Amino acid sequence: ATNIIKHYNITLLPGDGIGPEVISVAKDVLTLTGSQQGIKFRFEEMPIGGAAIDLTGVPLPEETLLSAKKSDAILLGAIGGYKWDNLEKHLKPETGLLQIREGLGVFANLRPATVLPQLVDSSTLKKEVAEGVDLMVVRELTGGIYFGKPRGFGKNDKGEDIGFNTEVYATYEIDRIARVAFETARKRRGKLCSVDKANVLEASMLWRKRVTMLASEYPDITLTHMYVDNAAMQLVRDPKQFDTILTNNIFGDILSDEASMITGSIGMLPSASISESGPGLFEPIHGSAPDIAGQDKANPLATILSVAMLLRYALQEENAARIIENAVLDTLNKGFRTGDIFSIGKCKIYKEEEKVSNKMAS
Ligand code: ATP
Ligand code: MG
Repeated sequence: ATNIIKHYNITLLPGDGIGPEVISVAKDVLTLTGSQQGIKFRFEEMPIGGAAIDLTGVPLPEETLLSAKKSDAILLGAIGGYKWDNLEKHLKPETGLLQIREGLGVFANLRPATVLPQLVDSSTLKKEVAEGVDLMVVRELTGGIYFGKPRGFGKNDKGEDIGFNTEVYATYEIDRIARVAFETARKRRGKLCSVDKANVLEASMLWRKRVTMLASEYPDITLTHMYVDNAAMQLVRDPKQFDTILTNNIFGDILSDEASMITGSIGMLPSASISESGPGLFEPIHGSAPDIAGQDKANPLATILSVAMLLRYALQEENAARIIENAVLDTLNKGFRTGDIFSIGKCKIYKEEEKVSNKMAS
């Protein structure tokens, strides 16, 4: 029913480098899709990262966090650049990103890795292995060994220097990320693989126990468990076996990067970071790419697909999300390519490329 007008508030954080370019395109996509679906978006554009440093002296101004917190969802471009590389740590652009993630309490990071039929050749894997891959890594983002205490440097019995960290997970932390993963699997193909190291680590033993217990609340989801060493191997051997992968902070850090390389296209990959009850943060996984900023060469599809995730996971607007994902496929089918996914040496694609645009990178 397109006459029902719904309103959502979106905070836009363009940031640095190619951030403003891709956000401007994604904003248009959101507005247009909304107008077809009876949805009106109110946008508030706020500074973050290097742009915020230039404007206010800090990478995350208070007003930016306030706007983000009272929005329905946040769409972020990218942060950082050579210009700010020599600043002190608390004044670096990247600190703004850590601060907003912390400020919003986003404990769940969702990163899909999809090999689109049009881009099978971009994959680092053989065509037969890459074809049809469509998986989602759900990574715990605010706990585990990156935050556990005690941590630090010290001395051992022999007086040698040591460095140490602690892997800690409490049941509430495991339960809330597991629920996000079960819900995510439900919106996908209903298969969840929980990845841990329960043969060695106590934190993983508790992880596996809690995930197994929660499974009884999701009888429609098929749950399996896998040790992380095996999962790393299976991801390159046969990635098609995976639908949704649930894992902790450090394993997720590694596995989500591994999974993204299967697709081979940094300019195509979106992400979502979800909090308990507040708004989520949606952003492309690529950085600010200062080498191509301001030259109309950036691939906006990672940000446009982040918009689709925003609609699906923050606003429950599944229809609008699908429309955008299909439009991305259409665009690729029509032969449009940016430099990051344009494979040189393909005579046919090159001709289509010339026909449709003279702006694309070679
Ligand atoms: P960061 O530290 O901010 O994550 P990075 O060093 O990991 O940055 P990115 O900025 O993510 O690097 O990207 C690396 C390179 O890939 C860029 O310099 C650019 O050439 C290319 N690239 C990244 N994103 C895109 C995009 N959306 N479209 C086209 N090319 C891209
Ligand atoms: Mg990077």
